[in-house]
Amino acid sequence: MMTNTTFFIETYGCQMNKSRSEHIAQVMIQNGYQLIEDKKRADILLFNTCAVREHASEKAISNIQKTIKDLNKTSRYPIIVIFGCLSQFLKNRLVQRVPGAQIVIGTSNIDHIPQFIEEHTRKKKKILDFNLPSSSQVFDESGYLRNSSHISAYLPITYGCDNFCSYCVVPYTTGPQRSKPLRTILTDIEKIIQDGYKEIILLGQNVNSYGLDFDLKNGFEVLLQAIEQNFHNSSFWIRFLTSHPKDMRPSIVDIVKNSSIMAHYFHLPIQSGSDRILSAMNRGYTRDHYLKLAKYIRQNLPDSGIGTDMIVGFPGETERDFLDTLNIVQEVHFDQAYTYIYSSRSGTAAYQLPDHLPLAEKKKRLQFLNQTLSDIHQIKLSNWVGKKTKILIDQIEGMNSSGRTTDNQRIYLPNTNFILGQVISVVVIKTLKGKLYGELVLS
Ligand code: SAM
Ligand code: SF4
Repeated sequence: MMTNTTFFIETYGCQMNKSRSEHIAQVMIQNGYQLIEDKKRADILLFNTCAVREHASEKAISNIQKTIKDLNKTSRYPIIVIFGCLSQFLKNRLVQRVPGAQIVIGTSNIDHIPQFIEEHTRKKKKILDFNLPSSSQVFDESGYLRNSSHISAYLPITYGCDNFCSYCVVPYTTGPQRSKPLRTILTDIEKIIQDGYKEIILLGQNVNSYGLDFDLKNGFEVLLQAIEQNFHNSSFWIRFLTSHPKDMRPSIVDIVKNSSIMAHYFHLPIQSGSDRILSAMNRGYTRDHYLKLAKYIRQNLPDSGIGTDMIVGFPGETERDFLDTLNIVQEVHFDQAYTYIYSSRSGTAAYQLPDHLPLAEKKKRLQFLNQTLSDIHQIKLSNWVGKKTKILIDQIEGMNSSGRTTDNQRIYLPNTNFILGQVISVVVIKTLKGKLYGELVLS
């Protein structure tokens, strides 16, 4: 057991990574290490990395290199630990590019980081571990310790991915899907509520396939119903992401509709509006299937938000394919969207495909797509004016407070007489520079 040895964690990438960092912080603290927020003073620096897109991965590597260089200049030599998807993806190539790192491990044995640190300290040798988790490895991590606002807690329900979308490294860096046992999830939720959190975000690369790895049919419905049965009297919101259109089902929408604790928001990445490209991406659904899902959500839960992810410039994407994407954006009227230029990743199926479209054209398409989304967003914002809704206060900064609706819309309030975690009724009074402003409603 180490005492007074401090550590700092820097996290790159998705919510799943943030949650894993919280889990590792917990494991480190349980082993006697002390978490601090100042990386210049830490004895151990942990970097949790992401490999999804090349540009972001390269930026992370240069940040890590620079951090080490700057610290060494001031005669500080902390133990450097790099873990996560990028280590798993690059393995020894990352070790070569960051020679100052003493421990480089992939996504599998992260719970052993304290033991790796002790081994490194004892033997003064580099520790490398790139074993991939197998489908029999039980996924049983909990997180949420580091969320300083104490409002939202991430709760991973699956880890890994079996979908092998042709552009994506995640199945190669995280291994097959492993679902967390239902009983563990319910116990985690109970603990999270006791700890005072007001929102729980269930996480997985494809939450709709929860339980498939232990042959549980419609396992996500089973899980949501168990949560509803056990916690419907508690005052908190449940969200989940990511929903995969190929596995999303009307029965999931129905459960959300009939629940008093489930947020009316679906993050349902479409990636492209062209059937040809969706097939080349190995997404497992058609444009028509997606439209039917979106229609079902809009008809049954008219106040629900639909969020999405989109990739432009996938190999072979023609002007026609791109127009199909623009067209579906107009049809679905997304409430939130994350858009990316395709990034070619070695080892994926799409890496082999000829990619002739110049980068300038891909950037032009991205800009056009973002403008279309932004125009829709403006219309959506103005439709909010005059509406009454509930928000969960999760930010108080200076003279402004803000909170999110269950469909994930942020509303700002011009005073600070609120308490973090409070749910209040507001009326939206105006939109300004892409933001919504509201007033408290006393009723
Ligand atoms: N599991 C989720 C799903 O199926 O939608 C998404 C997980 S992925 C880490 C997040 C987003 O990154 C994807 O939805 C996709 O839009 C984007 N992405 C993944 N690989 C990419 C690549 N090679 N180039 C560009 N964007 C990519
Ligand atoms: Fe990647 Fe597809 Fe799995 Fe999402 S579902 S993580 S995009 S392979």
